[in-house]
Amino acid sequence: MLQGLMMKRPLSIPSILDYAAEVHGASTVVSADPGGQVNVQSYHDTRQRVLRLANALCEIGVTPGDRVATLAWNSHRHLELYYAISGIGAICHTINPRLFIDQIAWIANHAEDSVLFFDTDLADLVLQLKPRLPAGIRLIALCDEAGLPSGLPDGTESYETLVAGQPADFDWPDLPETTASGLCYTSGTTGNPKGALYSHRSTLMHAMSIILGVPKSFGVEQRILPAVPLFHVNAWGLPFSAPLSGSSLIMPGPRLDGPSLFDLMDEQAATIAWGVPTIWTGLIEEMKTRHRKPAKLHSLLIGGSAVSEAQIRTLEDDFGIEVVHGWGMTEMSPVGTATRVNRDQPFTVPVSDKLKQGQRLFGVEMKIVGEDGTEMKSDESEAGELLVRGNTVIADYFRGTEERDRTFDQHGWFRTGDVARISRQGDLTLVDRTKDLIKSGGEWISSIDLENAACTCPGVRQAAAIAIPDETWGERPLLAVVRAPGPGLKAEDVIDHLSNMMAKWQLPDKVLFMDELPMTATGKISKLALREQLARPPGDRPGTS
Ligand code: AMP
Repeated sequence: MLQGLMMKRPLSIPSILDYAAEVHGASTVVSADPGGQVNVQSYHDTRQRVLRLANALCEIGVTPGDRVATLAWNSHRHLELYYAISGIGAICHTINPRLFIDQIAWIANHAEDSVLFFDTDLADLVLQLKPRLPAGIRLIALCDEAGLPSGLPDGTESYETLVAGQPADFDWPDLPETTASGLCYTSGTTGNPKGALYSHRSTLMHAMSIILGVPKSFGVEQRILPAVPLFHVNAWGLPFSAPLSGSSLIMPGPRLDGPSLFDLMDEQAATIAWGVPTIWTGLIEEMKTRHRKPAKLHSLLIGGSAVSEAQIRTLEDDFGIEVVHGWGMTEMSPVGTATRVNRDQPFTVPVSDKLKQGQRLFGVEMKIVGEDGTEMKSDESEAGELLVRGNTVIADYFRGTEERDRTFDQHGWFRTGDVARISRQGDLTLVDRTKDLIKSGGEWISSIDLENAACTCPGVRQAAAIAIPDETWGERPLLAVVRAPGPGLKAEDVIDHLSNMMAKWQLPDKVLFMDELPMTATGKISKLALREQLARPPGDRPGTS
């Protein structure tokens, strides 16, 4: 085979910021801190700070391959960590602060994090976590010296002190483009969370593919607000695509309620925002109260859970904000599909098409298969399990998985656990999920964890958790329980017991007692039959209380 004769310069994450600082140096990163104070800095200034941080990381002994954790909201400092950590060849491990403390401790130990950067409003969580974190972990609070909260573990440093005094020049090492750059854990259906380990190459490919697939969001005239957290799969790639295309970034910090988002968007002239449907419910309520939208906002990308027809219609018809619906997964960097809207003629795609999950992005291949693994037709006539492959899809989990056959097919395609139809034009419509998980406000709740925890409650003989639709959260957990013989167990007893083992938002909204749970022929609880029973009017359900 004749080889091409082109240079092989590796794709690298810091090259994005080098480029943005030079070509889009005046575009800005706006960042609201937990108290609502706003910091504004250009991409040029951001790069200077990243170079200082890279020097500081090397000085404290971070070396290529090390995992450096963050427990933080969307801010300029978190963005700087993304670039400096990956730029020196280490791995930026973003941890979701909303997880239950046991899960955070498990994840930090599995990743063997050597440093933890955290936001000061999470100091109490860090204090509780400290004895369970990897030994010798270095703690750095994302603040200046004066902002260090009292009572932190000895030796906790401040970010600004670390960075101050470091030179603003640094020679990025020439890393192979397949070098790991980022790590994000996702809930497993069974067992512990699993880590998706991104590379410089996959991150660059993803950044470019979303600019191509969602062009309206990008360009120097756009000011984009990632309402999706930086700890959720790289805020869906925006920390990379925005500077690459010259869009300014508006980081909202921890305040994602409707009024705070509205004010920030209005004051900072946000034109675009990306996030899960639950976030937009809050913003819509605020827009209704004020009878207007944030001044410059023209488009929202909504993904992570299915968007409802009512939400699209309210945003588009009542407020003139165009909706783009996207689908993706942690394992896919994450965006896989998005609605293709006309850049110059907004609102021309019918709402019925926006309820679909969108068309595949360049580089993402999709197929659907039946239960026996045979490929099904991609003409929307058949639904099957959705499998994907591409440059932005994981080839394995961090430290591997014992369930390789359940994760990939024999040709290496990744099993998404979603059930879908695909059209000849690459349109995706999700119809169901094979994985036993509940997605509430964009965050996962494992049905199996909930059931296992419930079964340790005295008085519970059997338990099964299912998702019930919820207007605000998309889905909420319902727990069906069969009591053990003995004194009458109450719903409060079960909830009290679960509160010691799970985060508050993971607790079931409802505990329903049943005489028995429906079983499959092989003796497993039939979630299908349970959902079907509970969808009936209360009087028509067998043995519930
Ligand atoms: P995560 O890895 O947390 O990003 O979750 C990925 C999963 O969320 C997908 O496999 C789907 O089950 C679900 N999901 C993501 N986007 C959508 C969407 N637009 N519509 C319905 N479900 C979605």
